Amino acid sequence: MSTIAERLEEVRASLLPGVKLTAVSKFHPVEALREAYDAGQRIFGESRVQELAEKVGAMPDDVRWHFIGHLQTNKVRRLVSLRPAMIESVDSERLLRIIDDESAREGVVSRVLLQVHVAREETKFGFSPEELDEFFRCRGFETLRATHICGIMGMASNTDDTGRVRADFRAIADAMARARRLAGDELRGFDTLSMGMSHDYLAAMQEGSTMVRIGTAIFGERQY
Ligand SMILES: *Cc1c(COP(=O)(O)O)cnc(C)c1O
Repeated sequence: MSTIAERLEEVRASLLPGVKLTAVSKFHPVEALREAYDAGQRIFGESRVQELAEKVGAMPDDVRWHFIGHLQTNKVRRLVSLRPAMIESVDSERLLRIIDDESAREGVVSRVLLQVHVAREETKFGFSPEELDEFFRCRGFETLRATHICGIMGMASNTDDTGRVRADFRAIADAMARARRLAGDELRGFDTLSMGMSHDYLAAMQEGSTMVRIGTAIFGERQY
């Protein structure tokens, strides 16, 4: 049995240059996060606001928390108050506007990724590529007061069909490239492409991912 520190090291060694690692710690106990922290990991991904709140209180202050789960609008205020380093899973323009309002109210600037939905099954959440194009064509980011859009997050279909997985990653990367073109220079710091999980991150990096979200390969199976 390898340890969390050993598996973390293995994952790190397999990352392409410049690719950042979000260690997805959802459903794992604080002791597991501590082990990763002691091995140098600082970015952790959580998918539920209540669980995040508990872990924020139990972990050192220099952890950078990424929220990666579906966010209900009635939990936005609580999440923003926890000051996550990034909200990766902004899956609708309505949610984006609520995050912006709550961030302005709280007096912080929230850093977010827009989630694009390309996979066949899996989650139904996310902007479709067409909606995303429309958002950038209409310059929907210009009216944000307290939110910085840092890039795009997406997931590939959950399938053994590697051709399909690669096509999904390419579609996500293409959506990011179009957004860049449509937004022009005004969207500064729009450079994070978050894609790739334990079973598909090698393919994701080859298709241009700059940030991978890896849980199982570091922490083992989740105990739901
Ligand atoms: C749980 C989750 C992950 C991590 O999945 P693993 O297969 O355990 O690596 C990545 N991204 C999102 C959005 C998740 O919900």
